[in-house]
Amino acid sequence: MGYDRVYNFSAGPGQLPEAVLEQARDEMMNYRGTGMSVMEMSHRGKPFLKIFEETKAALIRLMDIPDTHEVLFLQGGASTQFSMVPLNLMGTRAAADYAVTGNFSSIAFREGAKYGTVSAAADTGPDHTRIPTQSELRLDPEAAYFYYCANNTIFGTEWSYVPETGSVPLVCDMSSDILTRPVDVSRYGILFAGAQKNLAPAGLTVVIIRRDLAGHALPITPLMLDYARMIDKDSMYNTPPCWCIYMLGLTLRWAEELGGIPELERRKKEKAGMLYAALEENPLLIPHAEVGSRSDMNITFRAQTPEQDAAFLAGAEALGLKSLKGHRLTGHMRASVYNAMPKEGVEALCSYIRSFRG
Ligand code: PMP
Repeated sequence: MGYDRVYNFSAGPGQLPEAVLEQARDEMMNYRGTGMSVMEMSHRGKPFLKIFEETKAALIRLMDIPDTHEVLFLQGGASTQFSMVPLNLMGTRAAADYAVTGNFSSIAFREGAKYGTVSAAADTGPDHTRIPTQSELRLDPEAAYFYYCANNTIFGTEWSYVPETGSVPLVCDMSSDILTRPVDVSRYGILFAGAQKNLAPAGLTVVIIRRDLAGHALPITPLMLDYARMIDKDSMYNTPPCWCIYMLGLTLRWAEELGGIPELERRKKEKAGMLYAALEENPLLIPHAEVGSRSDMNITFRAQTPEQDAAFLAGAEALGLKSLKGHRLTGHMRASVYNAMPKEGVEALCSYIRSFRG
């Protein structure tokens, strides 16, 4: 420590593990005897290729990614996947189902409509306080894919189950809850995540894709948005986001050293449990999401009045509990507790929540 760091509850870019930042600092000027920073080296040179391979291997180990699936390190943010998914998967059948459970799945749904017929398998708007049940999902057994967002960063809801869609491939946006619970990757056609919450700095999107789903892109698919090309070139058709891949490698090593997904899951359940329990104890503060649909990553809540919201946020700032303001779409409060948030930060927020009197 000693950097005057705060507890940063930002929804993304989010807090990174201190050990990761320190290692990046130590290796910044001269990466392991190369005489240069990772930011300055050729992506085709040996030192970077080693970083690339080790990072990919670590992700495969941590998430237990089967051979049927390919790992891609792409750019354009998670939002580019909103276009890339329909462009690549609607080549065989131009119809897809979307569960609209928040802002990002809603944007993806509208983007998908440019390339085919999209149906809302469920829509929890406008308040998005809950996740639909399996029996509520209106499923087309012939759909090219079923799309959902595992954790709704803005509204603070999270799927507690994997939708059952028969032979229809599952496409999942895991931007805000990747590496927080075990995922049976074999059940997914595509899963993707922008890096800037649980993985690395912004600028990298991790995509895990079942290989047979690539190679059927619509003819209009831009060069850079064709999964088959990226698989063929091992994410190096052009210059990949080298620094972010290096940072991801450091985060993955940190995660493995902690004990991998089981330990990350234990910690996140503990942290989220503490926060929801503290909120229950203060009648002035009301969680946004319904019990059973609540996110373990983004805990959304409000006070009784806009003035009380403002007072809560001001008091938190003064205690070094930062970035608790809700998204501009929803207002109120949101505590994002990604993997790098230490338990001490959550304890500090919990005692503030308990003591808040308006
Ligand atoms: N999906 C989810 C669940 C998100 O939380 C975000 C960003 N907060 C996005 C997609 C968009 O990501 P990006 O900014 O990387 O395009």
